[in-house]
Amino acid sequence: MKREVVIIGGGFGGIKTAKMLAKADVNITLIDKTNHHLFQPLLYQVATAALSPGDIAVPIRGIFSKQKNVKVMLGEVVEVLEEQKVVRLKDDRLIPFDTLVVACGAKYNYFGNHAWEKHAPGLKTISNALNIRERILLSLEKADQIDSPEEQQKYLNFVVIGGGPTGVEMAGAIAEIAKRNMMRDYTNFSPEQTHVYLIEAGPRILNGYDDSLSQKAVDMLGELGVEVLQGTAVTHIEQDKVFLEDGVIESPNIVWAAGVVANEVIGTLDVETDRAGRAIVAPDMSLPRHRDIFVIGDAVHMKDDKGNLLPAVAPVAMQQGKYVANLLKDPAAYAAAERKPFRYLDKGSMATIGRARAVADIRGLKLSGFLAWAMWSVIHILFLIGFRNRLHVFVEWMWHYFTYKRGVRLITERPSDPVEPEDDVLGDLRKGA
Ligand SMILES: Cc1cc2nc3c(=O)[nH]c(=O)nc-3n(C[C@H](O)[C@H](O)[C@H](O)COP(=O)(O)OP(=O)(O)OC[C@H]3O[C@@H](n4cnc5c(N)ncnc54)[C@H](O)[C@@H]3O)c2cc1C
Repeated sequence: MKREVVIIGGGFGGIKTAKMLAKADVNITLIDKTNHHLFQPLLYQVATAALSPGDIAVPIRGIFSKQKNVKVMLGEVVEVLEEQKVVRLKDDRLIPFDTLVVACGAKYNYFGNHAWEKHAPGLKTISNALNIRERILLSLEKADQIDSPEEQQKYLNFVVIGGGPTGVEMAGAIAEIAKRNMMRDYTNFSPEQTHVYLIEAGPRILNGYDDSLSQKAVDMLGELGVEVLQGTAVTHIEQDKVFLEDGVIESPNIVWAAGVVANEVIGTLDVETDRAGRAIVAPDMSLPRHRDIFVIGDAVHMKDDKGNLLPAVAPVAMQQGKYVANLLKDPAAYAAAERKPFRYLDKGSMATIGRARAVADIRGLKLSGFLAWAMWSVIHILFLIGFRNRLHVFVEWMWHYFTYKRGVRLITERPSDPVEPEDDVLGDLRKGA
């Protein structure tokens, strides 16, 4: 009998695990609640109208159409029943496993302030990105219809909360739109009227990076016109308002990029978790009390040899997926009383800032500016899945680089949006008033 391997999640970790098992003598069931694999590192470009959703998402079935040992299943896992060795889906289907790989990722952490989510969406899904894009575009339309600069102002304010790589990338891209890209298309306000705020509670943005690169990022954001507020905590958020310790910023464009918490599935496992709900796994990525259940990627709390927590980035998830697949391909290593531990090979980190700037730390080599951006671009194109996506993103970037134009500036009505038009100041525009 072939081993039944169930993988929860078709993100970076889950896809890598399944691909690495292409020639293994196992049956794989890959379950995801969406039908697509999403390249999250470029989500901010969908949110800022540079790319279309189809450029950064590919159907999971398409990825495995030629891999005969993979069965792709659309479904949401709600519980893992460890003793019975089954996972339960939302529609109560039970899927049995011999080995389970939990690669269900993370979601944004509002630190208990759940009401904030509605007013300050995070950037995690295609729907989030389209929602943010629509709010930015509607806001500019609204400002164009108002004559008084005082009344216009709130529609020309943009707030990004959280100064990690996502917040930095998002703020830089919004500044390009608000201060440059689309300005020639609006006649009723000027780029100087727009304000883009990046708010970070900690002492500096890009906290995981070297001090010098954090400072470079502040400088480059400043050149783009982003107002970086470091050491500034958000105390409250309500509709169109962000409250700080010493003031309020009014804006319908508030993006949350401050910290993540593990997916709910982890809470159904028999394992200790950290404060962010991530599973504290054994050195071989398995649960300390269940060696046939592995957790990988953003849902995991694991430290490197120096005691530093591994970052929630795609290379960690992919290397962990490869590690678990290699164990499964080697029955003796899998059955060994003590399995060889997982080791993360850190190849570096980078964050892009606007159209042609970035910061990068490649194994101690610190780069910033155009060269870092060129490296960032090449790496992101290479890691996209599918030749069509790579080609299309490359063409879009070249077009954008030389023309400064953003092609995907569509406002569409999408009833499933988390923010209903009725509750929302921009609703009248959505409804065509
Ligand atoms: C905006 C943004 C920008 C980022 N930029 C970068 C970057 O530049 N570089 C970098 O390295 N990393 C970046 N990251 C982080 C990177 O995307 C993650 O570290 C990586 O996706 C983690 O992989 P994963 O497999 O653990 O989870 P994910 O890739 O998040 O995949 C999880 C999958 O599980 C599915 N799922 C979740 N719950 C269930 C359920 N209950 N049932 C079934 N399926 C479920 C989801 O639909 C999803 O497909 C970024 C993340 C975000 C959000």
